[in-house]
Amino acid sequence: MVADLDLLVLGSGVAGLSAAVRAAEVHSMAVGVLTKAELQQATTRWAQGGVAAVLGGDPDSTDLHLADTLGAGAGLCDIDAVRVLVDEGPGRVHELIALGATFDREPDGQLQLAREGGHSLPRIVHAGGAATGVEIERTLVDAVRAEVAAVYESFFALDLIVEGGRCRGVLAADPDGRRHEVRARHVLMATGGYGQLFAVTTNPHEATGDGVAMALRAGVAVADIEFQQFHPTALHHPVMPRPLLTEALRGHGAQLRDTQGERFVDELLSRDKVSRAITARMIRDGVDHLWLDATDLENFAERFPTIMSELAAVGLDPATDWLPIAPAAHYSCGGILADLDGASSLPGLWVAGEAGCNGVMGANRLASNSLLDGMVFGPRVVEAIERGVDGPSATGAMRSRLGGGAIAGRSLVLPAPTGAPVGTREELQRLMTADAGVLRSSESLERAAAGCAGSVGGDDFASWELRNLATVGRALCAGALAREESRGCHTRTDYQDRQDDLRLRFIIGG
Ligand SMILES: Cc1cc2nc3c(=O)[nH]c(=O)nc-3n(C[C@H](O)[C@H](O)[C@H](O)COP(=O)(O)OP(=O)(O)OC[C@H]3O[C@@H](n4cnc5c(N)ncnc54)[C@H](O)[C@@H]3O)c2cc1C
Repeated sequence: MVADLDLLVLGSGVAGLSAAVRAAEVHSMAVGVLTKAELQQATTRWAQGGVAAVLGGDPDSTDLHLADTLGAGAGLCDIDAVRVLVDEGPGRVHELIALGATFDREPDGQLQLAREGGHSLPRIVHAGGAATGVEIERTLVDAVRAEVAAVYESFFALDLIVEGGRCRGVLAADPDGRRHEVRARHVLMATGGYGQLFAVTTNPHEATGDGVAMALRAGVAVADIEFQQFHPTALHHPVMPRPLLTEALRGHGAQLRDTQGERFVDELLSRDKVSRAITARMIRDGVDHLWLDATDLENFAERFPTIMSELAAVGLDPATDWLPIAPAAHYSCGGILADLDGASSLPGLWVAGEAGCNGVMGANRLASNSLLDGMVFGPRVVEAIERGVDGPSATGAMRSRLGGGAIAGRSLVLPAPTGAPVGTREELQRLMTADAGVLRSSESLERAAAGCAGSVGGDDFASWELRNLATVGRALCAGALAREESRGCHTRTDYQDRQDDLRLRFIIGG
């Protein structure tokens, strides 16, 4: 163990690694990266479509990117946080290119820009067709291996060390299960989202909300947990995680069709609307998937080589076959409450990326804004530490807790676990998909909440993850039950309209 770390980064996705590179390379901090699998293993490397940033000129502008992001966020974005994202984003993309990332370009050398649902113009840069995450992760992992003081691979962060009202490090288990205290002056939580709470998900096995669960156990403020985004078009096939049929396919003209072969929704609407329309049609027709018709798309293999090989592996040819699809849990909009510098409610603990809630995503993430969120807000944490910032300010989503913003906070209580055991991971996931998924009601959420309320025994990797999933599930159900409205990616069948008086951020802990 390196004894004297300035910054301990938990997690090795785009958010954590962007911060680690900035801290080590630019500010010569002693940085440790601790991650529960191999360094390159993170949701980040599964990202396909690309990074949204205004890199072309007129007619696009950061004002338009801001407006599109606020539109998707359904009233719960913090405008200042989105302003930071869209203004600082292009610079971060150029830094990544300077670090060695190769994005796809037009024959004249300009970056190729794609359009995705909810974006008013093409502004998504991508790599290797739909292999953007692999390229970003490769670039950052190479830089981190060259720059940081310590890399702890296959170390599982179990709980925060809190002393004197401050985060001092984490208790972690090494690959043999031995416990270690890994201490640092600052800890950055970059442990990603909680898509594995659901049976049908695009998220990899490690996306179990560990950071959010650690925060909940330590009483750190967590917000917007009820807003779990579902991607409308995951390939319906018994593989986990479900291969994603990127939005870019619909952007290039692929059409959704029901069991009668009819189109039933505008394919370029935002994700929540498309997911809801598909789920409602599946329920109406009593089926578990519908179809994406990409038979008219030209140059499919060249434009989407990754998807082409995933389809070929399961015997599908997009030139002739309609592709079976269903909505899948995809992105966790909520997380550890943060200000514009990534400071949490606990001094010494910072957060960036999908584990956090800084106000950028609001009630629904705009496609391809999340890689950018990690690239922008990871390094901001480092800059704030370098400036001597030491605790949260009333900026970004943190204003809902500290006051001063347009969106007030409401405190919710996390129900305590009961004595009864939680079922298996698969049982919990099936329950959450059925009862706390795309369409929810008070009745179904009560069932899901009861299923998450049990305790989890055992002392190994699988039981730590299950315990964290159940903890996050309890928080998600508490938020979803209290939110008696439909907003963004949260849809209540018993409260179908948006309520102005619920334009609030629900906060647990802190
Ligand atoms: C299939 C798919 C396609 C996507 N496509 C896009 C896209 O085109 N554009 C876009 O912007 N976004 C996309 N996303 C979303 C985007 O990939 C994620 O939001 C983003 O990569 C999250 O980055 P992160 O750094 O916050 O977390 P992650 O990349 O999830 O990294 C989290 C890290 O934390 C580690 N970790 C977790 N728990 C612990 C623990 N207890 N102890 C130690 N380490 C731990 C994990 O192992 C991992 O290394 C996509 C997501 C998926 C699943």
